[in-house]
Amino acid sequence: MTSYIADSAVFIMGNCNVDNSLLITVPSVVDELKSKDSVLRFDLAKEEGLRVEWPEPEMEKEVREKAEQTRDSEELSKTDLEILAKALEHREKAVLLTDDYAVQNVAVQLGIQVKPVAQKKIKDVLIWQKQCIGCKKTFEKGEECPICGSPLKKKRKKRLKSKSHKES
Ligand SMILES: [Zn+2]
Repeated sequence: MTSYIADSAVFIMGNCNVDNSLLITVPSVVDELKSKDSVLRFDLAKEEGLRVEWPEPEMEKEVREKAEQTRDSEELSKTDLEILAKALEHREKAVLLTDDYAVQNVAVQLGIQVKPVAQKKIKDVLIWQKQCIGCKKTFEKGEECPICGSPLKKKRKKRLKSKSHKES
């Protein structure tokens, strides 16, 4: 049976039509629940069978490495990394429920199935790079341009994969 790895959005939005007994999440997800309603939804889900599991360190390491490659690492919170690690561990039989763009991007690269909670799913995988706001040269990383000293800004580099784009 398919399980669902629940991002904080599942409890914040409260409109995902998945049975609570099929949900798995990580303990730190609670840190991202700011509203009373979302905390109530989380508690109710736990009563109805939501599993709260610690992520495995080896999985977290793999997620972190992948996020470095796609330049998503600075967008990911501790909870995001843990959610991704949990989804990676259950990759064979689980779907990750998330609306977070960076989380979706890394998940797709790790071969994790993703289902959006409220937003549309992204179609393409993006690689980020840094561009100088002064001389417009692009770099892999860094905060300051080594040529002219201006600040570097994050910029999309390329799409790795796109689903059947029809050009007519
Ligand atoms: Zn420059």
